[in-house]
Amino acid sequence: MAHKTEALFRDDAYLKTAEAQVVAVNDRGGILLDRTIFYATSGGQPGDTGLFERADGSRIAIAATITGETKDEIIHVPAPEQPLPAVGETLKLAIDWTRRYLLMRMHAACHLLTVVCPFPITGAAVAEDDSRVDFDIPDAGFTKEDVTARLMELVRADHPIFTRLITDEELAANPGLVKSKNVRPPVGTGKIRLVCIGENASIDSQPCGGTHVKSTGEVGEIHIGKIEKKGRENRRFRIRFGPMPAN
Ligand SMILES: [Zn+2]
Repeated sequence: MAHKTEALFRDDAYLKTAEAQVVAVNDRGGILLDRTIFYATSGGQPGDTGLFERADGSRIAIAATITGETKDEIIHVPAPEQPLPAVGETLKLAIDWTRRYLLMRMHAACHLLTVVCPFPITGAAVAEDDSRVDFDIPDAGFTKEDVTARLMELVRADHPIFTRLITDEELAANPGLVKSKNVRPPVGTGKIRLVCIGENASIDSQPCGGTHVKSTGEVGEIHIGKIEKKGRENRRFRIRFGPMPAN
């Protein structure tokens, strides 16, 4: 039976360390804990890397975090040649915060892009230095410069970013919340997590299970590196950190 890991990052994306107990080590050496601050790869956001510290001070390097049989089962994948902990052992967890914080800023930047470009999303991938969102639009009619300027307006306004839970029924009554063309949020669990931007979600709200910074100002300076044509009705926007390079 799949284990349900308590996902501490859902309520507080800023947790850098925590303690947890080992509940299982699977036959491939993947470590399952009662609770974790490690985000598991999903929704276009890569899983966390980091360290587990044992009672004797020795460390286990974690190279990847993935989901198991269900989305609630989180598996920590050690780097090669790491010692394996015993079931019941207490570990101190530490994520690679520098990397995660970049991913949180980038993930929030992807939400801002969907505000500036309100079209059906066909794909997205968040990375530390370059993220992409694909939209189902025949002709962008946008320039990198325009989109960058509108993204930076949202960043400078420093709007709050927060989460809120709604019921399946509330989601069904507001189909416009779902911007993804092919991926539907999981229903049937009773609660759907919305990521909201602006006072009273005035700028945006959409279902998302990822980790984000708590205000648009924290995204910092970003720009559109490229708008690529991917088929007749698909445009790929690439977001990068920093000012737009001068041509
Ligand atoms: Zn998100």
